Amino acid sequence: MSDVLIVGGGLTGLLAARELVIEGASVTVVERGELAQESSWAGGGILSPLYPWRYPEAVTVLAAWSQPRFEALAAELLELSGIDPEYVRSGLLMRVEDDACQAQEWATQHDIEMKRLTAPETLLLEPQLEQGLEGLWMPQIGQIRNPRLLQALVKDLKIKGVTFRTGEPVTELMVEGDLIQGVRTPAGEMCADKVVVAGGSWSRSLVDQLGTDLRVEPVRGQMLLFHSSSGLVRHIVMVAGHYIIPRRDGHVLVGSTLERVGFDKRTTAEARQELLAAAGEIIPMLLNVPIVNHWAGLRPGTEHGIPYISEHPRVKGLFVSAGHFRNGVVMGPASARLLVDLMLKRKPELDPAPYGWHGNQH
Ligand SMILES: Cc1cc2nc3c(=O)[nH]c(=O)nc-3n(C[C@H](O)[C@H](O)[C@H](O)COP(=O)(O)OP(=O)(O)OC[C@H]3O[C@@H](n4cnc5c(N)ncnc54)[C@H](O)[C@@H]3O)c2cc1C
Repeated sequence: MSDVLIVGGGLTGLLAARELVIEGASVTVVERGELAQESSWAGGGILSPLYPWRYPEAVTVLAAWSQPRFEALAAELLELSGIDPEYVRSGLLMRVEDDACQAQEWATQHDIEMKRLTAPETLLLEPQLEQGLEGLWMPQIGQIRNPRLLQALVKDLKIKGVTFRTGEPVTELMVEGDLIQGVRTPAGEMCADKVVVAGGSWSRSLVDQLGTDLRVEPVRGQMLLFHSSSGLVRHIVMVAGHYIIPRRDGHVLVGSTLERVGFDKRTTAEARQELLAAAGEIIPMLLNVPIVNHWAGLRPGTEHGIPYISEHPRVKGLFVSAGHFRNGVVMGPASARLLVDLMLKRKPELDPAPYGWHGNQH
């Protein structure tokens, strides 16, 4: 029997497992499918909210805590696992929209480097832009190759002694009185004094069984992957909600759509067209390179993008970390730290109030 059972082997569950095992807890991760194949795999790995000034402070706080830690985390995981999560500080260039003044005020308030650039200046940064663009430039923003981050994490956790049970859906949370007892899967019961629901978009149905509403809903995002020679695109570039992410080896990701279509992970011809048009508008040369993949993932959506990171309001020992929506990668390390502070009853480094059930944001 482990001290802690974590339901869900996505980034949220795996980072929590790492924090816990480092603190000496024995941990089992229960995953209904394969590890790390859902939203965490499908995402882009941009280490910033997109248009970050448009988000509530509760998102900014988790992103800001995590951002300076990624470079060291990637280096540590490379050393421990031999797999490189490919952290790159590639900078984020965004075309100016109507709220550029608000953006600059936000950056000054939060002491974040942001420069306004003219079209010729952006062309110097990114020569393949069609004509340059009036831009906002955030040079400190990084990216990580999320599928590799996940592989590295899984390997590291195996070395650290975390147990994985895959292909095993948790069908029920076992509760007696107001205490969590464990979980039930088709293979039987698993007991533990502490259970974490980190099931991404699928978290709601488990928690709903307890008569508590968890407002997390799937929001589909589709991505296209191109393969060009490396250096065609140098930075993360965003125009009108679409973004381009260059990987080190010449792969270029173009994303993404935002679709409320339930638990449907199919890709569509319309989205492919939308993403192709965006790619052509931003970096026309991309239309000359092959598309090597097209996929969809389900983001665990909440109304304002603020995750639940909290003990259940009634059931002691049951914790939830879910609803990271568009920013689960960049908020990941901070979410895990806050969750584990709460689980171990340490004084939390981050104020837990906005992430509880009673915060007015949910
Ligand atoms: C297209 C796209 C682009 C994105 N881009 C970015 C980005 O650039 N930057 C960023 O920060 N974020 C991005 N995100 C968001 C980010 O990927 C998510 O917020 C994050 O991955 C959520 O992680 P998770 O572990 O909570 O959920 P998931 O990764 O979905 O993991 C949940 C896991 O729980 C398992 N599970 C569910 N129910 C059960 C059950 N009953 N029993 C057992 N297992 C269960 C699932 O099978 C799954 O493996 C993007 C997402 C998408 C889809």
